[in-house]
Amino acid sequence: MLVRYLCRMLQPFVIAIDGFSSSGKSTLAKQLAEKLNLKFVDSGAYYRAVTLYFIEHNISFQNPDLLIEALQAIDVLFEYDAIQKQSKTFLNGINVENKIRDMQVSELVSEVSALSPVRKFVSNTLRNINDQKGLIMDGRDIGTVVFPDAQLKIFLTANEKTRSERRFLEMKNKGAEVTEYEILQNLSGRDLLDSTRKTAPLKQAGDAVVIDNSNLSLQQQLEIATKFAETALQKYLRK
Ligand code: C5P
Repeated sequence: MLVRYLCRMLQPFVIAIDGFSSSGKSTLAKQLAEKLNLKFVDSGAYYRAVTLYFIEHNISFQNPDLLIEALQAIDVLFEYDAIQKQSKTFLNGINVENKIRDMQVSELVSEVSALSPVRKFVSNTLRNINDQKGLIMDGRDIGTVVFPDAQLKIFLTANEKTRSERRFLEMKNKGAEVTEYEILQNLSGRDLLDSTRKTAPLKQAGDAVVIDNSNLSLQQQLEIATKFAETALQKYLRK
């Protein structure tokens, strides 16, 4: 009994959700987190916060020494309030949640997240997030690099048109001045950079289950994912 308990303490239950930009990873992760009482972490927020810091401090990405020095001055923390249904991303103690979703950050984030020191910094930060409730984390390399032993890996996908329409509506609802064309360009550009970079490219983990939500409602997607999650949780608790 004690051994089992200690094993769980050392290796908490983790669900990794990876996939292309705007495939609905965060939406699904939040729903599942609420249903299964897990802590939700948006790993993209960490890369976005680092990108914002580099923009605000004019850090040249080409100089590895400056880059490493800058990373030492960065502290990022993501929090999700399940009751208020609100995310907060703190960069050195300041809530930058709105700023990190701007197009200016979206346009640079894939370039920044391809840098090895940045990946090392964010991956280490993410691995140190521990919550005895268990975690559900979404991103691009969670199941392949950050938590390769995650108890469940979901690779979420949808066709590009569906994804860019969703993102466009989301940005419009927030009052952003963007065109559908700009959104499409940004998504396809980021997907290309994310899946072709040398370090930790976006790819489906060999043991991931794939959910294509192009023609699924949020409810249908949640039902499918819940079945996978419950099976993984039962297996984890039996160990
Ligand atoms: O998830 P989101 O679209 O906010 O992520 C923004 C960017 O952060 C991605 O396009 C990708 O370049 C980077 N990212 C990453 N690895 C992760 C999460 C995000 O490279 N695990």
